[in-house]
Amino acid sequence: MRASESTNLYFSQAADQMQMPDWMRKLLTTPKREVTVQVAFERDDGRIETVLGYRVQHDNARGPMKGGLRYHPAVDLDEVRALASLMTWKTAVVDLPYGGAKGGIGIDPKTLSKREMERMTRSFVDQIHEIVGPDSDIPAPDMGTNHEVMAWFRNQWEKYHGFNPAVITGKPVEEYGARGREEATGRGVGTLAVKLLKRINVKPEQCRTAIQGFGNVGSHAAKYLYEAAFPVVAVSDVSGAYVNPKGLNIPEVFSYVIKNKGSLEGYKNAERIPADELLYLDVDLLIPAALGDVITATNAGKIRAKTIIEAANGPIDPEADKILSDKRIMILPDILANAGGVTVSYFEWAQNRQHYKWSLDRVRQELDRTLSDAFENVWQESSTRNVSLRTAAFILAISRVQRASELAGWLV
Ligand code: NAD
Repeated sequence: MRASESTNLYFSQAADQMQMPDWMRKLLTTPKREVTVQVAFERDDGRIETVLGYRVQHDNARGPMKGGLRYHPAVDLDEVRALASLMTWKTAVVDLPYGGAKGGIGIDPKTLSKREMERMTRSFVDQIHEIVGPDSDIPAPDMGTNHEVMAWFRNQWEKYHGFNPAVITGKPVEEYGARGREEATGRGVGTLAVKLLKRINVKPEQCRTAIQGFGNVGSHAAKYLYEAAFPVVAVSDVSGAYVNPKGLNIPEVFSYVIKNKGSLEGYKNAERIPADELLYLDVDLLIPAALGDVITATNAGKIRAKTIIEAANGPIDPEADKILSDKRIMILPDILANAGGVTVSYFEWAQNRQHYKWSLDRVRQELDRTLSDAFENVWQESSTRNVSLRTAAFILAISRVQRASELAGWLV
């Protein structure tokens, strides 16, 4: 299923519950603007490379549009369109004053030197600088981009429009970035896991947890859960899955990975099994925090976890979602589960506009409060309507966008 089809399917399931008329569905799912641009830049050997860049601005009823920039060979208009609409629902479900957008370039960043990456980024900004800005559309990092790319983006944009660091988030901390941005998504996953488990009366110590992916999101989620007394019995990355039924020593795994250039390869104090096997372990909580579409109709039947938190974007495809729901496996959906990152991005933007830097404690407190409120709202919606947490999250998000559009006037 194409990326935009699954997003629209989840939208439709919620819209059916809301008895939304067809004209409104079409208006809310059609992006405001889609831009495809030529990005030409010079390679280190003097050749001129030409690739395609995209920015899709899905909806701005609730505020300036917000969404990452992805550099990946699979980036195309359909993927960017799907991710842009997910951002609209994600910002709405956590009640940030934003709409949704997404952008990217269809290229493998591993094939670029640092200077080539910089030239490509600056060329992309030259093409899209007029449609992004602190009050209209604020990019952020995503797959294949990082705080350095954000710093180049800001610098190039400011050449046209003057000083305004709020044009982009995910910047280096010493260059108007926010403290706590790096840990935010994983920390958010941890916060939400604690809330969810409390609601279903499972104590942290009884919640054997497996986490797929030990990158930015997976490692910080593991750290948070370990500190909250969850036995994290398995973690994985591309090199394999590492299992210890008594619970892994996560601070030790964390330091090992830092020393080992980001990889779990060779970690000794655990049994190593093939990477994909992690998904099928008999655990209480499974957290896919690596890639999209890792649980599909083909392997959903093999999942034994009782609860799943979607830390990655779209790890469960809609067919698998149905199979897992029929098996009464509870799923906390991505639009809520991984919203910690965009929430702290919002704090960064707010700090930039205030010209004031928050402490790490303040960032963490506000993040915990924002996500906890969102969780309670989604839980209530799900109980009241007797629908899944995913459908409840979409209903809540869509209702907020719908209300904002109604108040402003549908056709503005
Ligand atoms: P990352 O690149 O830092 O880490 C990805 C991890 O997944 C790595 O450890 C990698 O080895 C592992 N991995 C890749 N293929 C695997 C496989 N087949 N089996 C097991 N492990 C595998 O990425 P990240 O920033 O942690 O993002 C992870 C997911 O979370 C992505 O889907 C991303 O879109 C989503 N997400 C990230 C953020 C954020 O703030 N970083 C925010 C929202 C959503």
